[in-house]
Amino acid sequence: MVNIPKEHKAAVCEGAGKGLVVKMVPTPKPESNQVLIKVLASSLCFSDEFAVDHGAMGVKFPLTPGHEVVGRIVQKGSGVSDEFKEGLLVGLGWNGGYCQQCEACRKGEFYGCNNGLVTGFHTEGGHQEYLTARWEAVVKLPENSGLSPAEMAPLLCAGITVNDGLNATGAKPGDVVIVQGLGGLGHLGIQFARKAGYHVVAMSGGDSKKDLALKLGAHDFFNAKQGEEFKKKYGGAKAAVATAPSSAAISSLLPLLARNGVMTVVGIPPDGKNLEFAPMQLVSNRCTVKGITCGCSINNEELVDFAVLGDNKVRSMVNIKKLDDADAVYKDTAQGNPRFRNVFVFDE
Ligand SMILES: [Zn+2]
Ligand SMILES: [Zn+2]
Repeated sequence: MVNIPKEHKAAVCEGAGKGLVVKMVPTPKPESNQVLIKVLASSLCFSDEFAVDHGAMGVKFPLTPGHEVVGRIVQKGSGVSDEFKEGLLVGLGWNGGYCQQCEACRKGEFYGCNNGLVTGFHTEGGHQEYLTARWEAVVKLPENSGLSPAEMAPLLCAGITVNDGLNATGAKPGDVVIVQGLGGLGHLGIQFARKAGYHVVAMSGGDSKKDLALKLGAHDFFNAKQGEEFKKKYGGAKAAVATAPSSAAISSLLPLLARNGVMTVVGIPPDGKNLEFAPMQLVSNRCTVKGITCGCSINNEELVDFAVLGDNKVRSMVNIKKLDDADAVYKDTAQGNPRFRNVFVFDE
């Protein structure tokens, strides 16, 4: 039995726009449907900003954000089975729990739960030493996978989001697939796309990330102004996953699709603008535009198993950070500086 302290260190947001303050908080006891997790790594996602800066999605303060979390279960509630026993290496992603009773849950579409919770928004987040989580949000992770907790954490939101986006296109091995944007999502998207056997074409605003894209596994690279060159070489893409933080950039992908091409939109650009397409582009080529929200704990288990399979593991590029510097690290992330994920790391 691990020694569980009465208090632990946490990065706390006291109100919208107030940033993060590091302080000691009481360590909670898990309720009957919860486990207590000792955090090993918690990465910062751009979406933390929705809570910390804007107080969006009905969050209540004080709040500790963080929804890409890896840790170990140290205690479980009375209603939790040995499926989630003490000592297990586990993670938490965007989905912080679902009701199991609404229409979406009864269909097994837990991501669409009417009463769904988001980790670090409606439940405790991972930017702290300990947190409680509902059992159905817990992702069981493989031991000795070759990935560190810090490398694994970003897979649980950024990784699953972009990989679900790739899967939803229905692309087959050998198909030309565009991964647009080379940030937190895109740098994982290139690796997942390569691993899935696609002909991977990376696209980014300028040429500065070309070498990195090829190193991560892209077969080819085009900058945002080279759409015509791309079409001349390939005719069109069977699929495209848009991760660029700009509505105009995402809109510019549609004309690059081949006949029956599918494009998935996996993020919400911070510019708040609508996507714009000429209807002719959809009609004449019978193209599809889809939106994707990331899956839940069981989907994340499959995702991580795929990521760590074999020699060509999908791993996030990370910058290791200390929780004591939480506010500065948060601001660095919000400004889009890190290549590609800042991660708070804690001792085991
Ligand atoms: Zn996220
Ligand atoms: Zn539900």
